[in-house]
Amino acid sequence: MGRRHRADYLKPLFSHHEAFGVNELDDIIELKNVTKIYDLGEVKVNALDGISFRMRKGEVVSIMGPSGSGKSTLMNILGALDRPTSGNYCLDGEDVSGLTDNQLAEIRNRKLGFVFQSYNLLPKMTALENVELPMVYAAHKNRRELAMAALESVGIGGRSRHRPSEMSGGEQQRVAIARALVNNPRIILADEPTGNLDTHSSHNIMDLLLDQRKKGITIIIVTHEEDIATYTQRTIYIRDGKVVEEKSR
Ligand code: ADP
Repeated sequence: MGRRHRADYLKPLFSHHEAFGVNELDDIIELKNVTKIYDLGEVKVNALDGISFRMRKGEVVSIMGPSGSGKSTLMNILGALDRPTSGNYCLDGEDVSGLTDNQLAEIRNRKLGFVFQSYNLLPKMTALENVELPMVYAAHKNRRELAMAALESVGIGGRSRHRPSEMSGGEQQRVAIARALVNNPRIILADEPTGNLDTHSSHNIMDLLLDQRKKGITIIIVTHEEDIATYTQRTIYIRDGKVVEEKSR
């Protein structure tokens, strides 16, 4: 069912005139000539070799590339889990390239939500407790209510007391998306979010992820499936740490 409506997601939410005026103000991400060199002593690996691009608020972008092309390294930098060796990363108006680990952690918690191929839920916790986790570090008084609202927003309020082993893959990924949403992120980074799901669940999860752009959330998806990439407005292809092609839809 999701596929029939796919074209709707690709329509602009606002025309440029009525949105925020100047286009560049809408940029949430800007990478300028970013490199990442892993120094292994004798060998240096140029995992990223001068990557530049921008992403707008509410844009849905996929990143594709063969194994070893630098996708994980790029996602680590976009996700403020790691710093570039050189170049700049501007996130929501702030240059985060030179921040300390604590500052990066703070940005991650405030601005970013993560979704993984294997869901990464804690097995002994219920769905509700998993969604509450990101709020442990923030001084939220009504954690339980916010977590419940996030579960309801992804359509699985009825599974709040279930543990991951008592849920299907698609349901577990919904819990993970609720966890990613609960701190109101500016960006969701999803690494092969449908990699463990059957076709039907994959399309439902893509519909759910793309639905988040209504809130102005930017969505970045790493995938090796062209079918999944066709959901996104733009695909950035990388190879040997460089952007080799961009496709807009
Ligand atoms: P992908 O996610 O596209 O498979 P990666 O970002 O994992 O690519 O890897 C890009 C390159 O960087 C590869 O040559 C890989 O071997 C190397 N690499 C990745 N992580 C490290 C690391 N922690 N230390 C050294 N080399 C690494």
